[in-house]
Amino acid sequence: MYWNREIETMPRRELEKLQLDRLNSTLERAAGSPFYAPRLTGKGVAPGGLRSLEEIASLPFTTKDDLRSDEGHPYGFLTVARKELIRLHSSSGTTGRPTTIFHTRRDIVTWSGLVARCLTMAGVRAGDVFQNMMGYGLFTGGLGLHYGAELVGALTIPAGAGNSRKQISLMKDFSTTVVHIIPSYALRLASTFEELGCDPRSLSLRIAVLGAEPHTDSIRRRVEEIYGLRAFNSYGLSEMNGPGVAFECPEQEGLHLWEDSYFVELIDPATLEPMPEGEEGELVLTTLAREGMPLIRYRTKDLTSLRREPCRCGRTHLRIERITGRTDDMLILKGVNIYPIQVERVLMSFEEIGNNYLIVLTTENHIDQLTVMAELRRDFFRGDLSALEELRRRIVGELRGEILITPRVELIEPDSLPVSEGKAVRVDDRRGEGKGP
Ligand code: AMP
Ligand code: ZN
Repeated sequence: MYWNREIETMPRRELEKLQLDRLNSTLERAAGSPFYAPRLTGKGVAPGGLRSLEEIASLPFTTKDDLRSDEGHPYGFLTVARKELIRLHSSSGTTGRPTTIFHTRRDIVTWSGLVARCLTMAGVRAGDVFQNMMGYGLFTGGLGLHYGAELVGALTIPAGAGNSRKQISLMKDFSTTVVHIIPSYALRLASTFEELGCDPRSLSLRIAVLGAEPHTDSIRRRVEEIYGLRAFNSYGLSEMNGPGVAFECPEQEGLHLWEDSYFVELIDPATLEPMPEGEEGELVLTTLAREGMPLIRYRTKDLTSLRREPCRCGRTHLRIERITGRTDDMLILKGVNIYPIQVERVLMSFEEIGNNYLIVLTTENHIDQLTVMAELRRDFFRGDLSALEELRRRIVGELRGEILITPRVELIEPDSLPVSEGKAVRVDDRRGEGKGP
């Protein structure tokens, strides 16, 4: 049940002491990097280090722009000689320079250990057949999980992303028991199973690790239902290694964030002040166990809230709630703030709605317009127009209640929207292009 019982169930007081020790050695180390050297000196880091974890608030934040800046990119954050590095990964960001993270041998060992901890928590064991359906390469979901699964002792299949028919034949040929998959792709793959006339529930699958993109609990339940397995939410970002940052335990009430390796803060993204207990804010993380490229108070842009009460599973590390989106995902329409996940939440509450949707933003006569294109489920895609119109109206009404503006809703044929092999693209912003949806 535990990969490292001592660390995972460490009493809070001891865990916080460990954090303070590791934070101070991280700061000392970071102060040796070209980027942090001028920023950490004179910022209240007393000789001998911080005396309490709260004192971290006196240090500057680090942002994605810092990683991309001329001072940061590519080697400005290194605290070791370049010959100590054995791997680099970079984030999937589509705009501007990618952010690159370098790892020493020890960093790879630490990271694999964190991933092994997550997989063990979900019930993965030696003897499992683990099919990793995430992109291998610069993206961390491939190699990150791969190393962790091997450490647990699972027979690891480096399937990579896409190629649905091949994925299914691998599952059949090797009796895959565990998959690591992007949730939107898991739903998409269901159509290929249907085309092949194969019931995914007849295979040997028992666990799915779902990660890399925000998804609602209803999407998780759909994946569980389609495949007949238990799905676990896996959170990470390349700047913090990748997967292995936070993961659900069997209680599935939030994701334990490994506090021996990351120091957690939650801030108001507008004021940068700490968020009051229980409220949603931006997650800020400091690496506590990274050697080659420590990051201090890194603003993840991910929105969540914290649960500090003890968990029934016995682990003492705090939990974060399912991520609801990113600060930069927010759409502003007619002065109203909207997150794509709000639309998903409403759509997925309708059993008639299938597994893919797209939010299209346009400008018509200088007015922003939001159109939700939602695929119907195959069994509901029939010719009864009045029933479809009635359904469409109900969806418009529910969406209006959730996002406070009236969207257009188009119900479309199953499998008609474009799909991505990687993270799902949920928003098509055509404002400024002068064309309709
Ligand atoms: P990358 O650095 O390219 O791996 O992207 C990391 C980002 O993916 C995170 O900052 C989140 O925005 C998103 N992400 C990863 N895992 C999850 C998850 N389980 N739930 C929601 N968002 C996630
Ligand atoms: Zn737990």
